[in-house]
Amino acid sequence: MAASNKLRTSRQRQRILELLHSTAEHPTAAWIYDRLKDEFPRLSLGNVYRNLHILVEQGLIERIEGGSTFDRYEAVGNPHCHLVCERCGAIVDLQLPLEAIDHLTRKLNETEPHHATRARLEFFGLCANCARGKAGY
Ligand SMILES: [Zn+2]
Ligand SMILES: [Zn+2]
Repeated sequence: MAASNKLRTSRQRQRILELLHSTAEHPTAAWIYDRLKDEFPRLSLGNVYRNLHILVEQGLIERIEGGSTFDRYEAVGNPHCHLVCERCGAIVDLQLPLEAIDHLTRKLNETEPHHATRARLEFFGLCANCARGKAGY
């Protein structure tokens, strides 16, 4: 019984990881739950959160803290920056060179008594869709 429970859990976790690799949406836990609940009738939103937590701990996915909104998740792949749209809430991947961030991290480690190992840079404003809409005002 316990063994089959464990198997089901790891299968769910595998599917969550696959789902995150297959989308550029930076989904919430609820989005993931909606897409997997038919496949796993006994899945709960709590299961999804638990599995996401484990995947974060394993370093396979990253949590993007949503501040006042829900946290979003994405599979760990190429490092990149995000733009968060303040109108529609979209999180868009940016193809910016990351040397500037490396430079800042080095600078921090040279000039501060702290030691940073990674950094995340986020931009806020309007995504392409919302920016286009704005042009019509
Ligand atoms: Zn937008
Ligand atoms: Zn991203």
